Amino acid sequence: MTVVTLPTELGEASLISNSEVDSFLTCERKHLFSFVFEREAKKKSRSLSIGIVGHEVLAVYYRALQAGMNKGDAEKEAMRHLTGIFREDEYDPDSLATVYSLINRYISQDTLAGGTRILEVETDFYLPITEEYWYAMRLDLLVEALVGSLRGKVLLVDHKFTYDFYTEDDLQLNPQMPKYAAAVRHAGYPVYDAYINQIRTRFPAHLIEKKTSADLFSRMPVDLTVPRVRSALSHQMIISKRIIERRKMPIELQIEEAVPVLNKMICRNCPFKSACAMVEDGLPVEKALGPEYKIRKYGYSKEEIDGS
Ligand code: SF4
Repeated sequence: MTVVTLPTELGEASLISNSEVDSFLTCERKHLFSFVFEREAKKKSRSLSIGIVGHEVLAVYYRALQAGMNKGDAEKEAMRHLTGIFREDEYDPDSLATVYSLINRYISQDTLAGGTRILEVETDFYLPITEEYWYAMRLDLLVEALVGSLRGKVLLVDHKFTYDFYTEDDLQLNPQMPKYAAAVRHAGYPVYDAYINQIRTRFPAHLIEKKTSADLFSRMPVDLTVPRVRSALSHQMIISKRIIERRKMPIELQIEEAVPVLNKMICRNCPFKSACAMVEDGLPVEKALGPEYKIRKYGYSKEEIDGS
């Protein structure tokens, strides 16, 4: 688990991430469970498990490259780390076997190793916005291109373990990378563009070796524009203000105000389905968030919420 070190200038301000805003916009009750009661499901879904472990193993791999290891040794480091996770028995073996096969294939075709200089791996960035709230994020990877037409450019890379690849529309409408760009630029890096580095989780472990790289991996440029960055930040600020106002209410009122979306498409993959149904049946929230749930321990990554 990555330890979060908070900036000393933060003062009384709250940190609000893209994940929290996304959760609030998706379903206010889901946000209540995750960010007010700070719970997560003990039993993780396949997609969430693959997302969390996959990110962790890729961080080990890219940190090893950053430290000067060659690709082969960095891969060994990553796989050693994954073996340790197997031993911990926290995740189901099928999900871990899928991560093993995917990472194995991923590293064999990875062009970031060698073609870029690794600048940051799993680093937290902050954007001070008001005295009440800052924007906080955890970046997967920041690189400087060493070859090709982008040589010398600083690029954000966000790993996505995803069942199917994003469409152009999905990418165009995703506000995460424009917000990331603003925070990383604030830290002094001249970010040129961002890429989503997609790793497809659709196939079971035993079929992955039969798939082509094009079936499994896709790195898409986000094409950051000034208006997109501005819009994404503006929406982040508006929702952050709403979240802060909500937090000022007594807890009973926060529970009442957190209206559940109760939408079949959205609820289907929600880790709080059973707690939510119990609340609908009249159980108090504290009781509904019973033994199936534990205190949430992850930082700012989207995987903590929905495994995408
Ligand atoms: S099950 Fe649906 S309504 Fe309930 S918390 Fe989850 S997303 Fe919200």
